[in-house]
Amino acid sequence: MNGMMMQSQLILTGIMKHALNNSPDGEIVSITLDNPDFRYSYQQAFERASQLAYALQKLGANKGDRIGTLAWNDHRHFELYYATSCSGLVCHTINPRLFPEQISYIIEHAADRWLFIDPLFMPLIESLATHLGSIQGIVVLTDKAHMPNTTLSNVYCYETLIAAEPSEFHWPELEEESAAALCYTSGTTGNPKGVLYSHRSLMLHTYGVLMPDVFAIRRDEAILPVVPMFHVNAWSIPYAAPAVGAKLVLPGPKMGCGETLSKLIKKESVTIAAGVPTVWLALLKYLRESEETLPSLNRVVVGGSACPWSIMEEFEQKHEVYTHHAWGMTEMSPLGTYNARIPGKLPKEEAQALRLKQGRPGFGVEMRIVDPEGNTLAQDGLAFGALQVRGPWVCERYYRSNESALTEDGWFDTGDVATIDADGYLTITDRTKDVIKSGGEWISSIELENFAMTQAGVAEAAVIGVAHEKWAERPLLIVVPSEGKMVKTEEILASFKGHFANWWIPDDCVIVQEIPHTATGKVSKKDLREAYSDYLWPHEATV
Ligand code: AMP
Repeated sequence: MNGMMMQSQLILTGIMKHALNNSPDGEIVSITLDNPDFRYSYQQAFERASQLAYALQKLGANKGDRIGTLAWNDHRHFELYYATSCSGLVCHTINPRLFPEQISYIIEHAADRWLFIDPLFMPLIESLATHLGSIQGIVVLTDKAHMPNTTLSNVYCYETLIAAEPSEFHWPELEEESAAALCYTSGTTGNPKGVLYSHRSLMLHTYGVLMPDVFAIRRDEAILPVVPMFHVNAWSIPYAAPAVGAKLVLPGPKMGCGETLSKLIKKESVTIAAGVPTVWLALLKYLRESEETLPSLNRVVVGGSACPWSIMEEFEQKHEVYTHHAWGMTEMSPLGTYNARIPGKLPKEEAQALRLKQGRPGFGVEMRIVDPEGNTLAQDGLAFGALQVRGPWVCERYYRSNESALTEDGWFDTGDVATIDADGYLTITDRTKDVIKSGGEWISSIELENFAMTQAGVAEAAVIGVAHEKWAERPLLIVVPSEGKMVKTEEILASFKGHFANWWIPDDCVIVQEIPHTATGKVSKKDLREAYSDYLWPHEATV
């Protein structure tokens, strides 16, 4: 027997309608090159999304067409999110930090029909002109006065394009399974792969991130996504904020600048902000130097890479800001786990250990860890294995691939190695391909890095496995000292003693000025491994 409830489709248009009915005055603040202090209401934003939907129709965009965006976090990108997805098109966000050849690969693979770009990216697109075969035209996200000169043809100005269009589009009744957005993984090996989100998966994910033990955003809050809108839909914040009517603060192109972030948080009374560890390092550095404070800020969400304790401690002790550690990936829309506020009082060391974990899965995500034969391992916080997930916002197959991306029994292998404890807390110990195997035993590079980053004078640390004649591989620690600080390799290595089994402790430490990062801000272990492929251990070097 079927239930007898309404069959309303879970489509993003629902968020737009809900915001228009319930929070039309909810505010969006946006920094763009042509206006560093733009602000308007959800009502105005969705009226302009309507105008854009009409303009896209006139440009000849058809249902299912991919519309590429190369843009920062601002109001025009927000309008694009809704105008494309809710009119049956696919919003394809492209990461401008990728290598140009990866960007052209992605545009060609997705066969984008139109590109919407920030003026800053015009030189990049011009350099890719020969790879834009599927592209019918380019729309520059600015007004007439700020249009860049270009050698390309079929280039339009966004504001001129939408100006004369009506502000009430007749949004179609879409099927919830239809594609809404596309984002390519930045994969460190092979070509990037496209993850094609459906309306349903994005809607369920939006409910998921809004839950009390996750982002828990309220209507009276102001949220700042420092995570780019070109990477996994800015962790869903452009959907979650209007769904509850919260104020949305979009920081524009200078997201990595501590001063810009600090001023914006203060001016707009931001209560919650989300981003990868590097942006928080930049913000904390600025706050330290300027002696500024952030009275409105209540919590930050940190994900994308393991969050060092130093960030959590400084936010809490100096600014009374709680740091939530979160884990996820492009293939998971991205939310996997979230470390909610720990209830009750725990001894300091226990609380620290718990908060460094990546958190617990919200309702909607199932997780398991398996050994190389596929046997499920115990959730005892000790056994570690390949982390697999499943749920309604997890990728089933990649865009334009006929093969399932799942295991035979229907799980998605994340490529991460992890432990899960009896309370369901996840600890990521490595990426499968970054695992260090010494004498046949696994060593967690993330645990070693986390510890190194608690040492005085250490700004950033990475641990990689380097070939070793006796143990096959041994861990090598690479450290970037904090500005103006001296660090001694012997002292750092000695600090590991008593905290780790002796065989886990790195055999050597190298001090560098900079560690390479990927286009999504993660330490590029691949580049580090290449850079140190000829490295000789101290005993080898002296032979
Ligand atoms: P991406 O698809 O580019 O967002 O990258 C996803 C990968 O980033 C995950 O599979 C993890 O390896 C890593 N990652 C994300 N969040 C965390 C975290 N909190 N701690 C450690 N690694 C993380």
